[in-house]
Amino acid sequence: MKAISFAIAALMATPAIAQPPKLIVAISVDQFSADLFSEYRQYYTGGLKTLTQGVVFPSGYQSHAATETCPGHSTILTGSHPSKTGIIANNWIDLKAARTDKRIYCAEDETVPGSTADDYTVSPVHLKMPTLGDRLKAAVPQSRVVSVAGKDRAAIMMGGHHSDEMWWWASRGYVSFAGRKPPAIVASVNARIDALLSKPEAPAPLPAICQTRVAAIAVGDGKTVGGPLATREPGDTRAFRTSPDFDQATLDIAGGLIESMKLGRGPATDVISIGLSATDYVGHSFGTEGPESCAQVLSMDKALGVFLTKLSASRVPFIVVLTADHGGHDLPERNRIHALPQAVRVDPDLAPKAIDAAVAEKLGIEGFTIVGDAPFGDFYVSKGVADADKPKVIATAKTTLLANPEVAAVFTAEDFAGHKPNPLPVTAWSLLDRAAASHDDARSGDLLVLLKPYVTPIINGAVGYVATHGSPWDYDRRVPILFWSPGMRGFEQPNPVETVDILPTLASLIGLPMTAPEIDGRCLDLDAGAGSNCGK
Ligand code: ZN
Repeated sequence: MKAISFAIAALMATPAIAQPPKLIVAISVDQFSADLFSEYRQYYTGGLKTLTQGVVFPSGYQSHAATETCPGHSTILTGSHPSKTGIIANNWIDLKAARTDKRIYCAEDETVPGSTADDYTVSPVHLKMPTLGDRLKAAVPQSRVVSVAGKDRAAIMMGGHHSDEMWWWASRGYVSFAGRKPPAIVASVNARIDALLSKPEAPAPLPAICQTRVAAIAVGDGKTVGGPLATREPGDTRAFRTSPDFDQATLDIAGGLIESMKLGRGPATDVISIGLSATDYVGHSFGTEGPESCAQVLSMDKALGVFLTKLSASRVPFIVVLTADHGGHDLPERNRIHALPQAVRVDPDLAPKAIDAAVAEKLGIEGFTIVGDAPFGDFYVSKGVADADKPKVIATAKTTLLANPEVAAVFTAEDFAGHKPNPLPVTAWSLLDRAAASHDDARSGDLLVLLKPYVTPIINGAVGYVATHGSPWDYDRRVPILFWSPGMRGFEQPNPVETVDILPTLASLIGLPMTAPEIDGRCLDLDAGAGSNCGK
């Protein structure tokens, strides 16, 4: 009965596009900020050019404060803010966890014996909301749900709880849950990567537009970023992740699974989510405004072009939505050159360990008072603190944090209690509104620390990453949202919309009933005015 009404509804919907899609392709480009999207928009010749001929929302928002990968991906196909998905950060601390390691990774099952936050068992158990795939399968069990990504948390948070195939990159190839056999395409892409990694790989020549960006920026300890692009040494998987080969591999697996599983040709609507992660690794390793990022965005545009051309030739009725899990911005050393004198690396005194020591000294408490994962975000009162001392520890930590000029706000349970979601557009949200959208009473810290704009929470730029995201500011919140299917009437709608609007919009196109649980998003009108896909 469910299946029949679903099919009828599907026939009645969708004035905006020629026919109801049989395949939904949801692409997330990790750290693809609205700024980065628009910066190179005039140079797109491939997939991004195609997608900009559809319906363009240049001001999509990951509306919440914790603009990290896991929370961001959890909003895209659930229609819900992290406060509902439960994915409040990439990592949080659960002092009640049975294992010794109290740091919990968002996409793990910490109850599996032997797992730690660094050596974890991948699982969707922490995701509290159903994804599009979960909802499709509940409505019509014949729907196929596939998820492929460069990161496990992207694959999990978009794919959800009931995937048919889910593959993500791990250390030297694409893997899945224990016991899942790699389909032929995964095995062949993994073999190709092995071959690629067995020899040195010279970088592709820089596109002309990227050459103008070559300028060495010192980040400490003699290390520079800003090109020229380096040769990848054999076995260097970190360099693989910042090369065009990475997104290409993810897209090849996605394309291969669409073909071999005949997605879009079955009795029901199928969905494939694709997480392209290289843009994020490039952003973290080299910043967002250098030749490295330029080359990455333009190579991804080309790879997406080939992917979409193939998909169009298959004649399967499909729709693509492309967005990002969060934005990002450049490293402070180059931001300062670009007229942002306030861009700095975070004060080491804001590290949880430093706050812990300061609070312990002020209160004369021996042992730990405060624990946390980073010099911003969630701070927790340590397990050893007596219940009677807890309010004192929280108050002292708050005063200590707020005394630092780099701190924009500190929120505690009192602030979140009784907070009502702001009905105004997300551009009008206060810092508390943003923080509440990624707050979960059971998982969030006793204090939430938000840094001022352009304070980069990486203490030492010389080691590993040089730039990051995760702030409540618009450079980290604003992302493009693009819908496209062959023959679609395109237009651009500049009003602020949200990534949580993607699920109800896709649901409207295929007549998927949006039954409980209740979501945060609303349907976006993809028709330039003639007949809305929403409200049918
Ligand atoms: Zn990310």
